[in-house]
Amino acid sequence: MLLISGPSGCGKSTICKRLLEDRRVVFSVSATTRAPRAGEVDGQHYYFLSKEEFRRRVEAGEFIEYAEVYGNLYGTLRQPMEDVLVSGRTYLIEIDVQGALQLRALGVAGLYVFIAPPSFEELRQRLVGRGSESPEMLERRLRKAEDEYRERVKYDHIVVNDDLERAVTEVTRLAGLEESPEGRPAP
Ligand code: ADP
Ligand code: 5GP
Repeated sequence: MLLISGPSGCGKSTICKRLLEDRRVVFSVSATTRAPRAGEVDGQHYYFLSKEEFRRRVEAGEFIEYAEVYGNLYGTLRQPMEDVLVSGRTYLIEIDVQGALQLRALGVAGLYVFIAPPSFEELRQRLVGRGSESPEMLERRLRKAEDEYRERVKYDHIVVNDDLERAVTEVTRLAGLEESPEGRPAP
C-alpha cells in the first residue's frame, strides 16, 4: 500500500496520475458525497454517492476509514483494497491527513508519504490556479493546511512537491517502483 497525503492543492492528484502510468499500480477509488468536478468520471476518480447511500455503506461496514472533509464525506472501501493487495500489486491511496492517520492507527501496513508544498504562498497560487474553489473554500483549505502540515512528522517520508518531475522520481524511488521488466509504463 502506497499512501499519498498532504494539504489540498499540494499536488497529490497530479503525482498520483503520474504513478498510475505504471501498470503495477492500482488506484484506490474512494467514495464521496461531493459533487463531481468538470471531467471527473464516476467509478474512475470517485464513486459519487448521496449522503444517504454513503451512510448506508458506513452502517454495512464497507469502509476501512471515512472522514468529513470540507463538509463532504469521503471514504476508502475495504473490499477493493483487499483484492489488489492479494494480487501483489501496489494499492495507491490518495487521502486527506485525518484518513491517513486513521489507517495508521488501524495498523494498515504500507508506505505513508506526506506531500508538502514548497511554501504556503505557492499552495495558495496552486489552489487559485486550479480554479476549483470559491474564495471562501479556498481560505478554508488554506487554514486547514497549516494544521495538516504539523502532522507531517507522523509519516514515513516527507516529499516536497517543488518540481513535479523531481517529486515523482522521489516517490517512485521510495516506493521501490523504479523501472523494471514488469513495471514498464502502461500503453
Ligand atoms: P491536490 O490533489 O493535492 O489537491 P492537485 O494535484 O489538484 O492537488 O494540484 C493543485 C494544482 O497545482 C493543480 O492545478 C496542479 O496542476 C498544480 N501543481 C501540482 N504540482 C505542481 C508543481 N510541482 N508545480 C506547479 N504546479 C503544480
Ligand atoms: P477533493 O474534494 O479535493 O477531491 O478531496 C478533498 C480531500 O479529501 C483531499 O485531501 C483528498 O485526499 C481527500 N480524500 C479523498 N478520498 C478520501 C478518502 O477515501 N478518505 C479520506 N479520509 N479522505 C479522502
